[in-house]
Amino acid sequence: MRNNIILNEPLSRHTSWKVGGPADIFFTPNDRKDLSDFLKSNDCIITWLGNGTNILVRDAGVRGAVISTRKSLNKIELIDQSNYLVEVGVSCFQLAMYATKNNFGPAAFFSGIPGSIGGALTMNAGCFGNETWEFVKSVEVMDRNGEIHQLDPKEFSISYRSVGFPFPLWFLSCVMSFPEEGFTTIEELKSMRDSRLERQPLTENTCGSVFKNPDGNYAGDLIERSGLKGFRIGGCAVSEKHANFIVNDKEATASDIETLIKHIQKTVKDHYGIDLETEVRIIGEYHE
Ligand SMILES: Cc1cc2nc3c(=O)[nH]c(=O)nc-3n(C[C@H](O)[C@H](O)[C@H](O)COP(=O)(O)OP(=O)(O)OC[C@H]3O[C@@H](n4cnc5c(N)ncnc54)[C@H](O)[C@@H]3O)c2cc1C
Repeated sequence: MRNNIILNEPLSRHTSWKVGGPADIFFTPNDRKDLSDFLKSNDCIITWLGNGTNILVRDAGVRGAVISTRKSLNKIELIDQSNYLVEVGVSCFQLAMYATKNNFGPAAFFSGIPGSIGGALTMNAGCFGNETWEFVKSVEVMDRNGEIHQLDPKEFSISYRSVGFPFPLWFLSCVMSFPEEGFTTIEELKSMRDSRLERQPLTENTCGSVFKNPDGNYAGDLIERSGLKGFRIGGCAVSEKHANFIVNDKEATASDIETLIKHIQKTVKDHYGIDLETEVRIIGEYHE
């Protein structure tokens, strides 16, 4: 057995909600070749994990292999004054700090996002009016056969918290280009963080916003006006601070969280006729 494979690894250790059953195989590749060799020699189902901050893993876990590149693929390299090669294991916060220290911007919006660049590319993560793909010039991806491709952003369909892929793939790195003007100072970064801390339960076990904002509305506002702030199922509750967050404050199961998600969707639909679509990705199997 390779030393970078763990069997039956509890995914609750790798998700910000701190819930989720085991992955049959948990693989942390050393580098691109290791990753490619693994994909070529295993035909099991593959699930990619970033920092686990936008994912609900069900209680019976995930079959096949879960791949984490947090410990590898974690470099940022300057290509020239405004172009940067960023690997997917880099955290959004690291990129924001790097941008701030090197006076290129406006990458500071990344500081509010606790995920990895891989997750940010998959979700088109955004904050403070900016979104990830506004700054992407090219991406390096790997397909199911372990082959590497360089792709142009035009090959993806990109919208609010959603990215359509041209074929099944995983991101390895991207080149990002930031204009030289509009950089943020460390003080501004801190004040951005403080203003979010006042409005959102950022220090609790959550996945950030559970639902996408429907056209012309804010999901949090609809949930609050439906009287659901503080509403609890099992070990989790709708946050008192921001109604689009569900906090795991009493050892919730994934099933508690999923049941609360469905209850919120039904209640908002009954009150306003609006379907709330989850931003969070739900994966894995239920207990029988
Ligand atoms: C406190 C808190 C605040 C948050 N605030 C924001 C915010 O302001 N704005 C925002 O947009 N989001 C926010 N989020 C949500 C989350 O951080 C983002 O969606 C982030 O981009 C997810 O990144 P991740 O690395 O954690 O991805 P994960 O949760 O690990 O994965 C998300 C999806 O991406 C896929 N994926 C991950 N890496 C790759 C890869 N390399 N190639 C292909 N697929 C991949 C996974 O399979 C999964 O489908 C917040 C979350 C928390 C907990």
